[in-house]
Amino acid sequence: MRVLLVEDDEPIAESLTRGLSRYGFDVEWVRTGTEALAAEPTDMVLVDLGLPDMDGLDVCRELRARGDVPIIVISARADETDRVVGLEIGADDYVSKPFGVREVIARMRAVMRRVRPATAQPDATVSSRLTIDRRGRRVYVDGVEITLTPKEYDLLAFLAEAPDAVFTREQIMEAVWDANWFGPTKTLDVHVGALRRKLGDAATVETVRGVGFRLVLT
Ligand code: CA
Repeated sequence: MRVLLVEDDEPIAESLTRGLSRYGFDVEWVRTGTEALAAEPTDMVLVDLGLPDMDGLDVCRELRARGDVPIIVISARADETDRVVGLEIGADDYVSKPFGVREVIARMRAVMRRVRPATAQPDATVSSRLTIDRRGRRVYVDGVEITLTPKEYDLLAFLAEAPDAVFTREQIMEAVWDANWFGPTKTLDVHVGALRRKLGDAATVETVRGVGFRLVLT
């Protein structure tokens, strides 16, 4: 899923970009309202209100006049008026600084669920919230694509062949990495961790202690 981040504060923009990327979002970062309005369309826009060249609310207003891209306002302004005006001119939600990446992602997912109910292809649906397009190697959560590395995709596709079934670490390592893997399986845990982040609460990779993992759909 592609996200346009409009934020002139570099430390905030950098940490948000890094955080969102870890969770599978594709972030395009611009610093000004002018750049935001000239950017290619994305699946969602995060807009800071205090921009160097124009008011973020005007950016929201212009984006809303052009179409229905979901917009979340991120702002240091604690003023209740900004929140109300932001929502009135068509922003879908509002996050106050300081915020954590997880909070922003939770808001983004909630907004996406609201504005774009899952539109999954029937031959690829795993659950009402998770879609795996095996031919295209694409994964969608609530109808929007998440970016997975090739191994993360392979791991998810393997576990999703039999939801709720427990696969041993060895079975997973053989299927996803290389046959006859007898070494440490730390890399598996790293990939499981990344998958958990990117799937959010749309599906859970459960640890079965002493055995392995299973995919539980929600
Ligand atoms: Ca700012």
